[in-house]
Amino acid sequence: MSTYELIDELEAGELSVAFEGEEPETLLVWALDRFAPRIALSTAFQIDGVALIDMCYRIDPEIRVFSVDSGRLPQETFELIERLGERYPGLDLELLSPSAEHVQRMVGRHGPNLFYRQVELRLLCCRVRKVLPLTRYLAGLDAWITGLRRDQWASRSDIRKVEIDHDHGGIVKLNPLAEWTEEEVWDYVRANDVPYHPLYDRGYTSIGCAPCTRPTAPGEPARAGRWWWEENAPKECGIHCAIETGGFEHDLRALLGEDDG
Ligand code: SF4
Repeated sequence: MSTYELIDELEAGELSVAFEGEEPETLLVWALDRFAPRIALSTAFQIDGVALIDMCYRIDPEIRVFSVDSGRLPQETFELIERLGERYPGLDLELLSPSAEHVQRMVGRHGPNLFYRQVELRLLCCRVRKVLPLTRYLAGLDAWITGLRRDQWASRSDIRKVEIDHDHGGIVKLNPLAEWTEEEVWDYVRANDVPYHPLYDRGYTSIGCAPCTRPTAPGEPARAGRWWWEENAPKECGIHCAIETGGFEHDLRALLGEDDG
């Protein structure tokens, strides 16, 4: 049970303005003080995520960190997780798994590599493997911290530092790195010797599931290597913005067993 009032849209707007121009740690100190223990850091082990693990751990070594293990992550991600555990002793890192039953039904119906066939099936896979486990976890929180930045992709260009997350029950969503550039994040990681994902040194500029991520060519946008075969589709999995197409939702309801009766 929370011992404080959750904030509303007006306060979120005022706080966003107040924290604009401030260092990420300033927002993190405020947020951890206000929401702990019902706050957690979400990471996909990209460069922003490891920078935030370092910042949060310095402020509070008991910070809760979570990530979704979709079942299709590259082996290098697990190597990084081991290194982070060594670097930050006692790090409270929870890996969330999708429902084995839902994955089994999806793969049984559409095959293991369904995502390459059409955008609708890719979005279905992202929903089952990533969005649903995350949504279940967020239901137990009052606030979550993300590594979103405005310069990552057009769909992220207007994010605020403090938002009300209407896609997840109206909890608070905090984006401390919103105004940082990719270069500033790398500067932080290098200056603080933070362990980072090995695939960055092999030409990757954004890292997700193994079959859906490839290195980018020089000059390509950072997220161009995600779902690279798709045209005119959002470079999003649905975790940070609800994606309703009307195309895969029926399939999803059937997989979840909601069509019965
Ligand atoms: Fe499935 Fe690819 Fe989405 Fe991972 S990124 S959940 S493998 S579609």
